[in-house]
Amino acid sequence: MRRIVLTFVLLPLAFLSTAADLHVWVDGDGTTHVTDDPESIPGAADALILGDPRLDQVWAGGFSGVPLLPESGSTSSELDRQVRALRTAVADLERGETLRAAAALRQVLLEDPTRPEAHFYLGLLEDRRGNWDEAEVHWKEFLTVEAGRFAPWRRSAVRRLTQFDAERGLADPAQHGDLELVEVAHPAFHVEVDRALLDAGGAAFAQTVVRYLGDVRDLVDSDLGATEGKLGVVLYGRANYARAHAHRFSFQTVGFFDGRVHVVSGAYPAGELRTLLVHEVTHAVFRERTGGDRPYWLNEGLAEWMERRSQARPVLSRSERSRLRTAIDSGRWITLERLAPSFSGLDDEEARLAYAISTAAADWIDRHTTARQRAVLLTRLGEGASSDDALFEATGRSTAAIDAALRTEIRAQFAGPRGGPVAGPVAASR
Ligand SMILES: [Zn+2]
Repeated sequence: MRRIVLTFVLLPLAFLSTAADLHVWVDGDGTTHVTDDPESIPGAADALILGDPRLDQVWAGGFSGVPLLPESGSTSSELDRQVRALRTAVADLERGETLRAAAALRQVLLEDPTRPEAHFYLGLLEDRRGNWDEAEVHWKEFLTVEAGRFAPWRRSAVRRLTQFDAERGLADPAQHGDLELVEVAHPAFHVEVDRALLDAGGAAFAQTVVRYLGDVRDLVDSDLGATEGKLGVVLYGRANYARAHAHRFSFQTVGFFDGRVHVVSGAYPAGELRTLLVHEVTHAVFRERTGGDRPYWLNEGLAEWMERRSQARPVLSRSERSRLRTAIDSGRWITLERLAPSFSGLDDEEARLAYAISTAAADWIDRHTTARQRAVLLTRLGEGASSDDALFEATGRSTAAIDAALRTEIRAQFAGPRGGPVAGPVAASR
């Protein structure tokens, strides 16, 4: 399943490119452009579209600043400091450090409430969280203060503002009666869609969903191997999802897999829906290969790992690594053995930690085993071996041994609870 909290952590590369249907691209001369219509890009095959990992190389340090950061012609040190703060915030967004970025952007606005870039990014952040009222405030403020300097962003903000009423309607339980599912044709999936989504998002909604599912199929097939049969996928508006499924979980979710993939969508879905589908389809593949959902940490870890790969994001953000280290030091670490049968009984904070531990463990396995060993692992699970036996046969280590190795590695990555990451094994002696 996918917890709602984690959807806040989005790579802005993916998120900017789609949140407002905005495409940033770099032409052959290295000049940056923005368009909301990728079809209009001349020589699109050669252009680097936002979301393409190569952009990072072109802009050496990411897209921060090039289009959205201010021309800092002023020599005022106050202004310089703001520009630096904005650049840091955008870099944090790129790494998935969303909360830190939001705090920095708010600080910039405390000092200068008319800073258009800070309003734009906060609008995006709030939009992705489903906080449309807050997003509306920031984008309206952006439109007031941008003074014609950010025309492409202006168009995107204006368009997205017109969509908020539809999004609010989908989230309002009072506006919906019985759930009605409508079939949408797809070559690789059996797709059913909440009629409320089709009513709100129109033909463009179905087209976007069909396109994302095609992407997801290609991505998952290439990383995990082709699957057989047509997987069922059901998409819901927020209110209808909550009414149908909220009772199943002790924490808020936006999707789960029970033989079919069930996910929440907005009326105008963006990168977050694609990411969510990658996550849930990975669960489906896990079940197809192993015949079940356990060990749960491997299942969830693999889904998170795939999701981050699909966004070209680091496997663990710096704050997640820090949280893991703190959990070890404070004795709140949750062992892989505890997480193997299920995540049930965890509170919201524990669930967040459990996802980070699972993702780190899946990444550990990816880095310490061969493709053949991983195939053996899934096959043995599918043959009915216990999690521990399958792990030992495939990797030579028990669940407890992998847990211990993972904790040792995390400790070695930090010089101290508040220290930065240390390159190399220097800190391993702590
Ligand atoms: Zn999941």
